[in-house]
Amino acid sequence: MKAEIIAIGSELTCGQNLDTNSPWLALKLGELGITTVFHTTVADNLEDNIAVFRLAASRSPLVMMTGGLGPTQDDLTREALARVAGVDLVFHEDAWRQIQERFARRNRPCPESNRVQAFFPCGAEIIANPFGTAPGIWLKVGDTIFVALPGVPSEMRAMFDQEVRPKLVAAGLSSGVFVQRKLNTFGLGESQIEEKLADLTRRGHEPEVGITASDGTISLRIFVRAPSMDDARLVWEPVERTIRERLGDLVFGVDDEELQDAVVRLLKQHHRTVATAESATAGLVAHRLALVPGASQCLIGGI
Ligand code: AMP
Ligand code: MG
Repeated sequence: MKAEIIAIGSELTCGQNLDTNSPWLALKLGELGITTVFHTTVADNLEDNIAVFRLAASRSPLVMMTGGLGPTQDDLTREALARVAGVDLVFHEDAWRQIQERFARRNRPCPESNRVQAFFPCGAEIIANPFGTAPGIWLKVGDTIFVALPGVPSEMRAMFDQEVRPKLVAAGLSSGVFVQRKLNTFGLGESQIEEKLADLTRRGHEPEVGITASDGTISLRIFVRAPSMDDARLVWEPVERTIRERLGDLVFGVDDEELQDAVVRLLKQHHRTVATAESATAGLVAHRLALVPGASQCLIGGI
């Protein structure tokens, strides 16, 4: 299955903001076995939006979009999508009520301009947004499924994880899973790690095992394509076991776990606390530790 991603916003095309949503989406689609073959970034201009959406509809079965769903006049995704589908925008009473309720919960008046966020192309399914006012849109146009999500990264990510991923799987668009199991190590250099694992990291090994370095952390990634997560686990687990046997304590975490996460986890586990005294790092160690949710339980402070 192939997909394309469209990021919408003049702040992106003019170079002011970096598009971090598209790479995030591409990775998430990849985990579902969906390959992204085009990335497009387009400014907040109706005609340009329509042109880009038309091109996408002509070549891709799945189009993920981010941005342009806000309440202001430069937010044109709803309108452009309706034009490409050849349908009207229709008002959804339920969606409007939810937007109003969101403002009410915050004791703020709901601006009339937010009403446009309750308009959707006729035939669209609404994707709930529990973290903001802009609901997403799921719309089939010919043979192409368009999925429009807000540009705010935290909202977009939560909506993808909670709403869109299950819908993509249910729609039969996912062809199995593509998993990268990552083991993070600290204490040896890249080449020393590789020496211990040369039989696993050689070209052609199944599953593929790669090494990447970032600061002092050397990570091993096990790449697995499989029909399901359970099947994938059966493939990566024995390789992970071998790596852990050979590297022992050097492995401190998996996937997104950084050194500070491992330190806080161990401190909590052993009911210990930590304080830092830093000079030229200017509080960097304390800062890293404080980034971990719940760190206040074990981080007393720093000088
Ligand atoms: P929008 O949904 O277009 O109103 O976007 C709201 C905000 O989300 C923008 O002001 C940006 O700060 C941010 N944003 C929009 N698109 C992206 C993107 N592709 N990557 C990262 N941030 C974005
Ligand atoms: Mg925008």
